[in-house]
Amino acid sequence: MWSPAAARTWPELIGSTDPSAEMIDTTRGRVIRSASMGVFPASVGTTEVLGSHLGHWIRSLVVVVVLGLIAQGVRPALGANFGSAGTPGTGGTTNGVWLTPNATWTVAEVGLVARFEAGLDATLTVDYVPTDLFVVENWNVPSCTGSSGYDLCVFDNNYGDNGVYGWNVCAGFVNGTHPTQVCTMDWVRFNLFFPTNNNQKRTLACHEVGHSVGLRHPDDGTNTTSCMNYDWSNLSLTGHDKSHINATY
Ligand SMILES: [Zn+2]
Repeated sequence: MWSPAAARTWPELIGSTDPSAEMIDTTRGRVIRSASMGVFPASVGTTEVLGSHLGHWIRSLVVVVVLGLIAQGVRPALGANFGSAGTPGTGGTTNGVWLTPNATWTVAEVGLVARFEAGLDATLTVDYVPTDLFVVENWNVPSCTGSSGYDLCVFDNNYGDNGVYGWNVCAGFVNGTHPTQVCTMDWVRFNLFFPTNNNQKRTLACHEVGHSVGLRHPDDGTNTTSCMNYDWSNLSLTGHDKSHINATY
């Protein structure tokens, strides 16, 4: 959630001081450029695979084979700004942080206006593709429901003066327990009620989609240049954030 005025009172922050947040499984190998994608719905508009190995446009069906494993994830000796927290639910701005099911991260843009689409595209390309996530971006998706098969669906709308620029909810099923609870379908929402410039849109996109892969707010005063803070001047993830992502996916 991004709510500067009430930044430290929202439910998603409750778990952020949990010392168990650093309990990331480093005993397994990391899958890089992961597994089978399955079949996209026929109604999907345009699919772009943003991974470095497949930088071209692909329509309809995408199958990504396992390219390899590396021996050991590296545990970041960092502050506790990673790990799931919160209660699933689609109502209001009830929100939190969850892990996504696997390294192949399918993102659906559900009718975004151009200004947020550009911000989302920028952060996916600049911040998330260089991680061990394999990012698959689906443009102009008409709707996003439990059967859509997307890990993350991104919406924008005028949600009114609710005090929140953007937020993240788990709209699907969850597996496991905090701080490693997985959400099978996250929704990120951007609120068009509040005017934002292009850089702010990118910061918001970086921040909210970060919650859908396990990044929390760095409330301990570290990692201050990350977009996961409430600071409009931070456009991107830091190496700290990427280390958490890479240790998990
Ligand atoms: Zn947030």
